Amino acid sequence: MGSYIGSSGTFEVMRNLNLEKIYRLILLNQPISRAQLAQLSGSNKVTVSNCVDFLLEKGIVHELGVVGAGKGRPATLISINGDSGVLVGIEMNIPFIRVIVTSLSGVMLENIILPDIGSDPEAFTQQVSATITMLEEMYKVRKLGVIGVGFAFPGYNPQTGVIEQMPKWQTWNKFPILKEMQKYNLGIPLFFRSTVQAATMGEIHFGKANPFEQLVYLSGTWGISASVYSNGALISGHHGLAGRIGHFIIQANGKQCICGSKGCLEEYGSIRALFNKLYPGKLQHHKYIREILERVRGKDPVALVALHETVQYLAIGVVNVINAFNPSRICIGGYLGSIIDDSLLNEIKTIVAQMLPKYYWETLDIYCSNLGELGVAYGCIAVVRDQLISILVGDSAIKK
Ligand SMILES: [Zn+2]
Repeated sequence: MGSYIGSSGTFEVMRNLNLEKIYRLILLNQPISRAQLAQLSGSNKVTVSNCVDFLLEKGIVHELGVVGAGKGRPATLISINGDSGVLVGIEMNIPFIRVIVTSLSGVMLENIILPDIGSDPEAFTQQVSATITMLEEMYKVRKLGVIGVGFAFPGYNPQTGVIEQMPKWQTWNKFPILKEMQKYNLGIPLFFRSTVQAATMGEIHFGKANPFEQLVYLSGTWGISASVYSNGALISGHHGLAGRIGHFIIQANGKQCICGSKGCLEEYGSIRALFNKLYPGKLQHHKYIREILERVRGKDPVALVALHETVQYLAIGVVNVINAFNPSRICIGGYLGSIIDDSLLNEIKTIVAQMLPKYYWETLDIYCSNLGELGVAYGCIAVVRDQLISILVGDSAIKK
């Protein structure tokens, strides 16, 4: 919680920090009274009332009426005003682009799959800009209209605003998506994250984790990447490239990895490793992911044995993650998260317990995301929702 509470600073900085704190407490504990907010935040009642009044005026929260009459002092409960505006999430996920629109409370209003624009990033920016303009028109009747748009891209570097490397489409490599989208002057705050960072924010806002935890999100798509959320913020590393867990070396002089190294976790404990076992000699193609998922869900014995072997290696990756980050929760998402059942999850926990002292894992929660295929899109929504106060106080144009 430390990052929300400043020890010094200007009046404005302190006001914004208090607003952040109160907003997040309402998100987490709604409906909630001003007195409860004061208790939870440690702030005095005047500060809480000022923050709530600001959020009421902006339309972010509303009062639900008085409760508790006859049982002590009555209190007015405060809740997020889901109808005041909408949030847009745009997930670039080859071979499709998913656009979702939700209320501030996260209620799904639109779930649109845009046609594949393939290898042309300029076509993408044109298409999504037109879509955003259309959504602005559709939702302008709401007080706040479209509040912001969150994007998730594979290979996005949050420090440079550039797509470093897009799987499959090389034309996207080094594409300055942030700068290119700014050219459209949409007049709405835009936020960009890598796919795994967005998925992590999705877990914080709509999944099992909460903002006061140390969460490591392991994304198992073709490979394995990770994002760390700590003390209210994503950790992206010196160059914005933190989280390459799939390239932790678990075998000296092991299998050749696509990164150029040998013995990386990805070659043993990922969907790609599973693919190589089940389809030896075939070229990697997205259609095989669907086939693998269907085979596992259909209890194909060959696929189940291969998955079992893969998960043993994934568990070693989980042990490394625990050693590196000492998290309170580890969430496994992506396709891997959708096919690891309770029994496999227990195997991972057993391996962790065999390899690490008890105090490393006794309070640690390892689980699979239940947000399914909407996890990343919800993550885009979460990224905007997370920045709501900076949007409201005007400290936000187009963000990385
Ligand atoms: Zn590697």
